[in-house]
Amino acid sequence: MALKQDEVYRCPDPDCGCEVTVTKGVAPGKGGNQNPCCSCGKKMVKMVKK
Ligand SMILES: [Zn+2]
Repeated sequence: MALKQDEVYRCPDPDCGCEVTVTKGVAPGKGGNQNPCCSCGKKMVKMVKK
């Protein structure tokens, strides 16, 4: 899934707990088909909004 504006991604490592918000989504056709990686090296997971 490409990064979309206002999506929130969190690091799955509870000892890290880093969380990022996408302030600007990926432009169409520019790829971005992967979740972002945390600075600790783990792949971040998308948070479901309520
Ligand atoms: Zn992390």
